[in-house]
Amino acid sequence: MPKTTACEPLSFTEAARGVIAMARLAGERHWVPATSGNFSVRIDQAHAALTATGADKARLTEADVIEAEISGAKHPRASAEAPLHLMRYAVDPAIGAIAHIHSLPATILSRAHERAGFFRLEGWELLKAFSGIRTHEVALDIPIVPNDQDTDRLAALVEERLREAGPVPGYLISGHGLYTWGASAKDAIRHMEAFDFLLTAELQQERAR
Ligand SMILES: [Zn+2]
Repeated sequence: MPKTTACEPLSFTEAARGVIAMARLAGERHWVPATSGNFSVRIDQAHAALTATGADKARLTEADVIEAEISGAKHPRASAEAPLHLMRYAVDPAIGAIAHIHSLPATILSRAHERAGFFRLEGWELLKAFSGIRTHEVALDIPIVPNDQDTDRLAALVEERLREAGPVPGYLISGHGLYTWGASAKDAIRHMEAFDFLLTAELQQERAR
């Protein structure tokens, strides 16, 4: 997970292809209901391909993907949550792709555990799906931040919490959903699938208690 090298630059079309792959998978799995969620792939140090506001993620095409400046002026078709993607790219050069989903277990558990400020994932074999984790004998504290409609302020809080948390593959926003990332769109897809499995397992376990 902690990788210090910067990602290889991609063309806009290559990056958009990664965005579409993430979005379609999330759409098929019902993780992005009612045009929610957003996906991005880094193009280079200064640019990222990002889903445009309001696009239907399950039917995403290249026309629904915009080229955004990581630290520049806001793109007119950028979604309200663009700062939550762009600030991650600005802070961590090893991040090549970011996925944001509103899956049911992530949304429910984030709200139930908001007061603790984190959700612990521990002892599951599938934790090894996260880059850099080689054993199930690990406790991963996934930060939970309170939701905020001011996404610039929220992005700043997220970075503060992630600095304190150390290396984690994602975080939760209370009552809202999950952000996860990886070195490539392929890694971000694996991380979405792992989070969905782990959070579904945790939720079912909580309900059985
Ligand atoms: Zn959202």
